Amino acid sequence: MSLRPDEISALIKEQIKHYNDQIESKDVGTVMTVGDGVSVVHGLDDAMLGELLLFPNDVYGMVMNLEEDSVGAVLLGNEGTIKEGDEVKRTGKIIEVPVGDGLLGRVVNPLGQPIDGQGEIKYTKTRPIERVASGVMTRKSVDQPLQTGITSIDAIIPIGRGQRELIIGDRQTGKTAIAIDTILNQKGQDIYCIYVAIGQKNSTVAQIVEKLRKGGAMDYTTIVSAGASELAPVQYIAPYAGVAMAEEWLFEGKDVLIVYDDLSKHAVAYRTVSLLLKRPPGREAYPGDVFYLHSRLLERACRLNEENGGGSITALHIIETQAGDISAYIPTNVISITDGQIFLQQDLFNAGFRPAIDTGLSVSRVGSSAQIKAMKQVSGSLKLELAQFAEMQAFAQFGSDLDAATKATLDHGEKVREVLKQAQYSPRSVEEQVISLFALKNGFTKKIPVNKVSSFINELYVDIETHHENIIEDIHTNKMISDDLSNQMKDVMKAFVEQFLKVNKEG
Ligand code: ATP
Ligand code: MG
Repeated sequence: MSLRPDEISALIKEQIKHYNDQIESKDVGTVMTVGDGVSVVHGLDDAMLGELLLFPNDVYGMVMNLEEDSVGAVLLGNEGTIKEGDEVKRTGKIIEVPVGDGLLGRVVNPLGQPIDGQGEIKYTKTRPIERVASGVMTRKSVDQPLQTGITSIDAIIPIGRGQRELIIGDRQTGKTAIAIDTILNQKGQDIYCIYVAIGQKNSTVAQIVEKLRKGGAMDYTTIVSAGASELAPVQYIAPYAGVAMAEEWLFEGKDVLIVYDDLSKHAVAYRTVSLLLKRPPGREAYPGDVFYLHSRLLERACRLNEENGGGSITALHIIETQAGDISAYIPTNVISITDGQIFLQQDLFNAGFRPAIDTGLSVSRVGSSAQIKAMKQVSGSLKLELAQFAEMQAFAQFGSDLDAATKATLDHGEKVREVLKQAQYSPRSVEEQVISLFALKNGFTKKIPVNKVSSFINELYVDIETHHENIIEDIHTNKMISDDLSNQMKDVMKAFVEQFLKVNKEG
């Protein structure tokens, strides 16, 4: 066989030509414009939506717009070093974050890099931040409670594992406090927690980390923080990064609680990105797909059935309203995707009724099927009683002559509210909640003056804890109040009321 060099070199030349073509047209592009954190790149014909692009000096960008002969990308790093004509490479990947137990106790940014100064994160696996939510056939209905430790929520607006419950209210009404108390209450409940802070001050996040650490909650918690000074695209990806981390545990069959604090700021970050990319603005200048922004995020919260491991992701997401307006654009969007909302009222908060939950406007669409029976036995009429109280209170302002029945309703309503008042960082166990509501329901608070009710229920619980521990154990194991138990509780409470009144009279 003889070699014919001219033929071979022609073949190689042909191949190299072809190779160049391929590279140039598909995998490497050039920067056309750059500025305001956004870059338009020419020549990346095959780029995917959400794909990571590599710009010079290791700056990454994410593809957000696919147009006929260019792609629009947001930059996730410093744009100062990038100029027109620079080369841009496709990576073929969408953003991935580290996942797994190495993240517990850590504070990371939305790219999964540590920002708590405690060294590298140990991980063996990563997950893409975007994922299509679990399908219908892999899911199961919510049937296990997620105890928040806050009586008014657990009794009236209960939350189940796998539920998506919105916390909504004006600024400074205790939204974050509810989420943090819920995380603190998961101690020893075998639930992993993720707190995603979007657009918050670093000092606020530092305080939250400190509180969680003191409460021993960092052992099972990860914090993902995209601070107020981060670029808008980084804030935009934060909740998706958080839920990707949650999904790893979900598929291991574990229960996860994820808090998004808050989605109003997330929508604003997305609006910024969209306007910079010159997408057409719609209502309130949000882009047309702002609904999809949150629906695809919240759909990833779910309860899987046994064949798929039985894990769950419960989402508590926060929305800030302006002057209590829950019918604004973003609030109505988010309300329509969720399984209920906890509505916080500025007026109640200022009047000292904290947590300032408006039980009339708050609902839980699925959680009541997850409530334990004992709780159902004592909490059934609370919502109605509070509504009646509010109605009569407004009415009673006009006249002083009230009949005995009205007086009794008003008095009872006031005591219900006293029992529902709860300080921050003091979660109550479900047994404690059941005992206090039992006392309320069976009229043991009738003789107690309103201003003593809160100390009465605290002391009652301490008394039962020390002298009648079997009551607590009974509720804990049987999850219901049997007739025998009910009788015993009544006897114990009757005696305690006498004792309490005597002590307080003397004091
Ligand atoms: P922002 O809009 O600034 O995010 P927020 O709605 O998240 O505010 P928080 O920061 O949770 O509100 O709470 C506001 C203030 O109210 C805090 O100083 C907090 O300590 C206090 N607070 C919250 N809940 C309670 C409570 N149950 N009892 C007493 N004080 C509370
Ligand atoms: Mg807050």
